[in-house]
Amino acid sequence: MDAHAFVSRRVATPDGIRPAAIIVRDKVRDGVRDGKISAIVAADQVPAVAEVHEFGDAVILPGLVDSHLHINDPGRAEWEGFETATRAAAAGGYTTLVDMPLNCLPPTATVAALAAKRQAAAGRCWVDWLAWGGVVSDNQSEIEALAAAGVPGFKCFLIHPGIDGFTMVTEAELRAALSHVARTRLPLLVHAELPGPIDEATRRLQSNDEDANWRHYSTYLQSRPEEAELAAIRLLLSLCREYKFRLHIVHLSASSALAALCAARAEGLAVSVETCPHYLHFCAEEIQDGATLCKCAPPIRSRENRERLWQGLKDGIIDLVATDHSPCPPAMKRLEEGSFKTAWGGIASLSLALPLMWTEARQRGFTLTDLTRWMAEAPARLAGCSAHKGRIAEGYDADFVVFEPEAEFIVTEDRLYYRYPVSPYLGKKLRGLVKATYLRGQVVFGDGQFSGEARGREVHC
Ligand SMILES: [Zn+2]
Repeated sequence: MDAHAFVSRRVATPDGIRPAAIIVRDKVRDGVRDGKISAIVAADQVPAVAEVHEFGDAVILPGLVDSHLHINDPGRAEWEGFETATRAAAAGGYTTLVDMPLNCLPPTATVAALAAKRQAAAGRCWVDWLAWGGVVSDNQSEIEALAAAGVPGFKCFLIHPGIDGFTMVTEAELRAALSHVARTRLPLLVHAELPGPIDEATRRLQSNDEDANWRHYSTYLQSRPEEAELAAIRLLLSLCREYKFRLHIVHLSASSALAALCAARAEGLAVSVETCPHYLHFCAEEIQDGATLCKCAPPIRSRENRERLWQGLKDGIIDLVATDHSPCPPAMKRLEEGSFKTAWGGIASLSLALPLMWTEARQRGFTLTDLTRWMAEAPARLAGCSAHKGRIAEGYDADFVVFEPEAEFIVTEDRLYYRYPVSPYLGKKLRGLVKATYLRGQVVFGDGQFSGEARGREVHC
């Protein structure tokens, strides 16, 4: 049995940031090293047998958990893939990824598709992973079987997802699925935009020709009004009341929905909320004509809206921050044409989310403990793995990030690590550097280099 001590003056424990040593005794169980934290002790209480890894003033944060990203594998691995996504994750301080059931082919909406996903991931992951199941127009009979097969929850769309192979659900189809979902006691993650207000806005734009310049970000923004999110959230909250399922709103952009979500919480409904780094960093006023790298759905809205989302995090109405990392081959961003109508909607950010969030959060008076809550603890809870992931505490997996919060760097292509070095953040100066990432007690990324082999595995809750 090996014993290791990871020592720093700033360890992010559940009781706050303090000097400590994380002790990892590497037991081998069934031929696999378990890599769990056996104790957190004072720096001067490290057992003499332990090999000491001293990090000085660098902060040790729990390995981050990304509960929303698109790995696109199998089926569209030329867009991303398990190897590239999990390497980008390790470089960005993430140690657990929860893959969305779409953009991959087959979509993860059947037990057979989940088996195909497991086969595609085997031996190719640098961090641990899970896969959400899909709720689509016609798979009601697969929902409980998917839960039994090990998905931590489900995802559905109330609007066309912008890609073939994964169908949206109408209200009637959603109702047909909800009693099954409720029986699993797993969360249903919903892309909350309704088509009605978007169709209407798009018609208005088309009837008024000179306004419909799709190189202007404002045209795209007008085509996806807040009302689409608001109406979807109102519908979902009433269904939540009726069917008593666990509702999770993914990538909230419209801050005007926060009041309804806050009231739903107060009423006792089981609803949680996420937003993404791009809604917390960019604002519509600063997006240039043709800058389709910033296209996503729902859209990035006004500066004022952005600050209200930060307030939502502060008030605890927004529980977590997930990346919604959704890359595509660069040509699909239509950078030459610059049309917000035809460009792929999705922003790639996996390897930058931590410094990006730290840069923004710190300016607004938030701490690394807040970041830990939003980007590790709460997403682990959503994905049902909060007994093993998302905290630096005894009995947890020894997943952690060595982070230098005072260091600064400029985003360059060589720091992205995912399949295509495409990013709206290139050239930005960010604060906070990931020095090393440990998965179950072993280094996977350190000082810009990957280390060891692809030891990531599926998390079973
Ligand atoms: Zn997504």
